This record gives sequence, structure tokens and C-alpha cells, in this order.
Amino acid sequence: MTSTASARQVGVIALFPEMFTALEYGITGRALQTGLIELNHWNPRDYTNDPHRRVDDRPYGGGPGMVMAAQPLDDAIQAARQHYQAKSKTIYLSPQGQPLTQQRIAHWAQDPQPLIFIAGRYEGIDERLLTLSIDEQWSLGDYILSGGELAIMVVIDAITRLLPGALGDADSAQQESFSRGLLDWPHYTRPEIYRDMQVPKTLLSGDHKAIARWRLQQALGKTWQKRPDLLKRATLSSTECQLLEEYQIKMKTGEQHD
Ligand code: SAM
Repeated sequence: MTSTASARQVGVIALFPEMFTALEYGITGRALQTGLIELNHWNPRDYTNDPHRRVDDRPYGGGPGMVMAAQPLDDAIQAARQHYQAKSKTIYLSPQGQPLTQQRIAHWAQDPQPLIFIAGRYEGIDERLLTLSIDEQWSLGDYILSGGELAIMVVIDAITRLLPGALGDADSAQQESFSRGLLDWPHYTRPEIYRDMQVPKTLLSGDHKAIARWRLQQALGKTWQKRPDLLKRATLSSTECQLLEEYQIKMKTGEQHD
């Protein structure tokens, strides 16, 4: 790993650090190699006072499953905080946390403080740690994963692509779905005709203004069709309202979006 003074510092506290090799590919892989992000790991198993190196125990009150014990996790968190010294945020990935959005990811991509992520396993972590050592809880959505490792990787990936220099073309991140409250427009590549389906003519015209207009109209139209909830929250200019209206009329009349 090549570290630079401006590397984005990310700490991971997880029982399965081996899983994070998945980040060594593509955009996150390049960011790790060039030192745009620097990843450090702490495994609670290395901090347990238990003679058998256990990090979990049965839940008080009975019931199924195990709970990650407070002591090893807390000591791992303190070690990570000490490592960064600077102000850092400790974030537990949990289905009970605040649901993540692109807006919140963009906020954290801009905030330079080190982020320390905690992955739960089993039934989760001892509740007292939420008060004692966790600053925030983030959720990927209303479904249950087996562990927080995948959730942390998702967050690191989403943040990394917004760091300056992470993408080949910085504009790509700005044009993606959710970046301005709309879904992305449709994309096509060669060949021009595939199984009798033609690429929209505007995209072949070379007329950049017309292409930009077509793309904006498609982004508005697709959002209206697939995610009307997003559109309700977006503030549209009069031109955008007009483009959307045109799209809706074309849909009703069955006219091609060429
Ligand atoms: N008993 C917990 C509950 O129902 O709220 C679920 C525990 S889950 C099996 C184990 C771990 O996976 C959690 O501690 C958390 O770190 C992670 N996890 C599961 N679903 C997640 C989600 N939607 N978002 C973020 N992390 C999640």
C-alpha cells in the first residue's frame, strides 16, 4: 500500500478482515494502490481477554444466537481511535441505523476525518457499546445481512468513487443516479443495431446540445416511471418540467424517444 499525506483514512473493525480483499479490484483497488484511501484493520479477536479467544457470548434473557461481547470490541475501537489520534468518527453498520443515501455518502466523502467502521456478527453487538463507543449507526436498507463486513465494503466503495481522482472521468460521479435527485439516463454502446434494436438516433447525431437535452429528458422520464418518490423531492426548473411533460406525452401517444 502506498500512503500519501492526503490519503483518506478508513479503519475497519471486523471478525473477518480477509473479506476485504474484495476491495482490491477496480476503482477501490486503484484507490488503495495509489494511496487515495488507506485501510487499517483491527480484529476484536486480537483484543479478547477470554482464555479461549472468544468474542461472543449467549444473550441475557435467553433466546437464539450469540452476541458480540463488549470488551474485545471496545478495546479494538479504542486501539483504532488511538491510532488515528485525530478526531475520528466511529460508525456501526446496523440494520437499525440511519438508511444511507447518496447525499449522505457525498457528505462523508467530503469530510476528511478518519472513519472507523464496525462490523457486527451473530445477533449484533452488546447494546451498551452503542452508548459508550459508537458515534453513529448506518444501515444499508431494510433487510438483514449475516455480518457488517459486506455493508462496510459497500460504504467504502460508494465513498471512494466520490473522492477527487478516484474515477477516470470526475464527471461520471456527478452524472450518476441520485447525484442530483434523478436516476441516470440510459446508456448504449456498439453495435448500433442489436437484435433489431436501434440506438436512439439523437445519440448518433454528434449534436452535443441535442444529446444533453435527450439525456436530461430521459433521466427525468425514467425517474418519473421508476422512482416517482425521488421526483417528488426534486426541484425542477421550468425547462425540466417542460422536458418531462414532453416525455409523458410521448409515452401516452406511443411516440419513439429518439
Ligand atoms: N439481530 C440484528 C437485528 O435484527 O437488528 C441483526 C444482526 S445481523 C444478523 C449481523 C450484523 O450484520 C449486524 O450487527 C450488522 O453489523 C450487519 N448488518 C445486517 N444487516 C445490515 C444492514 N441492513 N445494514 C447494515 N449492516 C447490517
